[in-house]
Amino acid sequence: MNIYKALIGEHWKESSSGRTISSSNPFNQEVWASIPSLTKEDVAEAVEAAHLAFHDWKKTNGLERATLMHRLADLIEAEADHLAQVETTDNGKLFKETKNQILFSARNYRYFAGYADKLLGDFIPMDNREMIDYTIMEPVGPVALITAWNSPLSLLANKLAPALATGNTVVIKPSEQASISTLEFAKLTIQAGFPSGVINVITGDGAAGDALIRHPLIAKVSFTGGSQTARAITKAVSDKLIPVTLELGGKSPNIIFADADLEDALTGAIAGIFGATGQTCIAGSRLLVERSIVEIVKERLIRKAATIQLGDPFDPATDMGPVANKLQLKKIVSMITEAKEEGAELLYGGELAKEAGLHGYFIKPTIFFTENPEINIACEEVFGPVLTIIPFNDPEEALSIANRSPYGLAAGIWTRDIKKAHRLAAEIEAGNVWINTYRASAAGAPFGGTKQSGYGRERSWHALYEYTHIKNVMVNLSTKKRDPFSMQTK
Ligand code: NDP
Repeated sequence: MNIYKALIGEHWKESSSGRTISSSNPFNQEVWASIPSLTKEDVAEAVEAAHLAFHDWKKTNGLERATLMHRLADLIEAEADHLAQVETTDNGKLFKETKNQILFSARNYRYFAGYADKLLGDFIPMDNREMIDYTIMEPVGPVALITAWNSPLSLLANKLAPALATGNTVVIKPSEQASISTLEFAKLTIQAGFPSGVINVITGDGAAGDALIRHPLIAKVSFTGGSQTARAITKAVSDKLIPVTLELGGKSPNIIFADADLEDALTGAIAGIFGATGQTCIAGSRLLVERSIVEIVKERLIRKAATIQLGDPFDPATDMGPVANKLQLKKIVSMITEAKEEGAELLYGGELAKEAGLHGYFIKPTIFFTENPEINIACEEVFGPVLTIIPFNDPEEALSIANRSPYGLAAGIWTRDIKKAHRLAAEIEAGNVWINTYRASAAGAPFGGTKQSGYGRERSWHALYEYTHIKNVMVNLSTKKRDPFSMQTK
């Protein structure tokens, strides 16, 4: 049993209440570690540490911050196996996927390190040549970074890298379901040399997150998680009027036209929904298929689903690991039951996988077909390996089904017709569109949602603006007298 502590300033702390939360391995359900369940007072201590550190950290120059961030990236790369091993033990995601994500997080720290000394302001030409105007990008202050359990370190990098590059201090709150990789990562931030209080990690349940965002010294919240929690957060901070970035769920359409390279498209469909056991916000959970190829798509997808290897997430031969926790498993099973009741045709899976050696939270890759895009399984996020195939007759109908969703996170388009692809990409209501690929990322490509999938952007230079205020400075060089009762506009 590994006993972890939270990082507050330079101290590793237990909860002042003595309470802990145990972490179990979703593959074998063994309790393998515990984390502190911090009290409101403990959380306040972390925010105060971040507030204190902000005073000096915001004055560091970009090169100093970049140097520390590159050092951190070096350490992440060196420790990628260890971090991935811990994260996989905690949330059951495949080791190869977790390691890949962790290496990608190092890439994100390097990307934003490159911006740390390039936070350029504008020089604004004035009508009056005796006036000068310029802008400065300033950090916003202690920021609360809240992440979900499916990819703790990768989601964290999306937030922490731009926050650090722009001179913010942070208090991180990972999910109680998978906090340990973040605590291991916190050790690396100390090793990299970040000053005490710049990066704090608190642990606990939703109440700890609530105490964090409500704290008067928290100046911004960046949240990844579900829409219900997002609503609670925006309400809770509405009195403080602080900015919030929201990365939420989706019900993303992955659209296959008859003129697509079918083998590539089917690989994209599998990657979209069965990769990471479907526990990804960008899951392509609605597969919209042109009617003329529906039967062949069904048949080939069933064949492919039958070859998916369920098993130990550490085994390189495994394609799909367990669902991350019992609660999530129950939710998936209940949505499958409801889909059957609503009349969706079950093409494959739809039940727990109980093959020899599978004792954890395993569910078979599941494929439904429906003519009715309004039923719940075709509208609501499952966050599991459940695909719903919906046919369409022409691009207009595909677009109308795709956009008939409260979510707007991602979309895929599979076609050889470049004009059709770009027309659809322009009209689809989603923050991220992939053409002839799916679930692909880059540090320099902005990521985020529209509609109920949230607002704000992560990755890319756009993210710098999520963690900065723009200050305008106007300088009068003139010696002329002015009329004090009239605004100076020249
Ligand atoms: P939740 O919304 O339940 O939790 C997200 C985080 O918020 C957790 O750390 C949670 O802590 C914390 N939290 C819970 N209640 C509060 C509160 N009142 N105030 C502050 N923080 C709180 O989401 P899940 O963890 O279940 O994650 C799944 C969701 O995340 C899915 O909808 C998925 O689509 C979305 N997601 C979005 C991504 C994106 O980038 N767009 C990426 C990955 C996931 P605790 O767990 O301890 O309760």
